[in-house]
Amino acid sequence: MKELSARRLGTVAPYLFADLDILKARTPGDAIDFGVGDPDQPTPKPIVRAMNRALANPANHHYPTYPGMLSARIAAAEWYQRRFHVRLNPETEVCMLLGSKEGIAHLVWALAGPADTVAVPDPSYMIYKHQTLFAGARPLLMPLRAENDFLVDLSSVKFGPRLKLMLLNYPNNPTAAVAPRDFYAEAVRLAHRHDFYLVNDNVYSELYFGPRPASLLEIPHARERAVEFHSLSKTYNMTGWRIGFVVGNARMIQALLKIKQNTDSGPFQAIQEAAIYALKHGDRFAEANRRLYRTRRDVLVAGLQRLGWKVRKPEATFYVWARIPRGNDSYAFTRELLRCHQILVTPGSGMGPSGEGYVRFALTVPVPRIREAIRRLGTRQ
Ligand SMILES: *Cc1c(COP(=O)(O)O)cnc(C)c1O
Repeated sequence: MKELSARRLGTVAPYLFADLDILKARTPGDAIDFGVGDPDQPTPKPIVRAMNRALANPANHHYPTYPGMLSARIAAAEWYQRRFHVRLNPETEVCMLLGSKEGIAHLVWALAGPADTVAVPDPSYMIYKHQTLFAGARPLLMPLRAENDFLVDLSSVKFGPRLKLMLLNYPNNPTAAVAPRDFYAEAVRLAHRHDFYLVNDNVYSELYFGPRPASLLEIPHARERAVEFHSLSKTYNMTGWRIGFVVGNARMIQALLKIKQNTDSGPFQAIQEAAIYALKHGDRFAEANRRLYRTRRDVLVAGLQRLGWKVRKPEATFYVWARIPRGNDSYAFTRELLRCHQILVTPGSGMGPSGEGYVRFALTVPVPRIREAIRRLGTRQ
């Protein structure tokens, strides 16, 4: 028989969270799941009602337009202006997506191929590297280290003629780092100087506990070669809805659209109507989420510190990135936590070699369960 899979499938390891799901399913008893970053709270009711209203309207039952409804793109541009003081042209500089994951994947396909290198943070959201490999391009890992506050060390990146695209993600998954403006400014300066394109995955921009995170597009001349991804998933507890958007450089968005026109047909319009509602009226829901995650963060971090873990309080995202208290094998430690304490975390090394020695807790667990997890971790098995 012929080899079933295309060769590109062999370039990528099994999806980490699919693996962890299997591990969890095999665990007897009452597991506490800090694994995948999926909000435990429901989508706010007013957003659901906006969807319900839109669902009843037959005008929304057709194929959507590829870049999304103009009204949705205008809502995204207005939100952007309000939040970051950046003015965007909704006709050319905004595109609605079936979640930012879809957009990131297709942008990599649109921009990078076999002759190209794509610089990706290490550790990071796995799809940056995996889509680069699927596209036949070469990933260049940019280590995130504690001594640099988990910022990419831009001075040590090898800028060659093949470097086509650099993917950044601040506020960062998994390290929870936030990038200051001068970091973005330096990235933009280097992108112009070395002629590559720049992306910031800013899906955690609204989950902050300190100063409000910036946008890459606040930097002058950024939009000449940069785009930024946003999502309603984490901000408004809408992961299942599949809705996000990309903003910035019109040519990059045109290239992305060429792939999308040949792949999908844009997000369901009723979902776009719900997104419009969330972007216009959703600030209070984001604020409620910040309060919720801040409380959980404080309970988890204080509890881990009492147990002797070395862990910093994150200033943004809903992750706690923790150095493991024993040894340096994230996978072995993750399996041990599951076996001895029925606690599921994400092994840092699963998100890139520089994540070795760390685990990631997602704060998608209610406070009583976090306290229970701390209690379990304090008992010897
Ligand atoms: C969750 C997550 C996404 C995916 O968001 P969707 O809009 O739901 O596709 C993208 N990037 C990072 C870093 C994430 O953690």
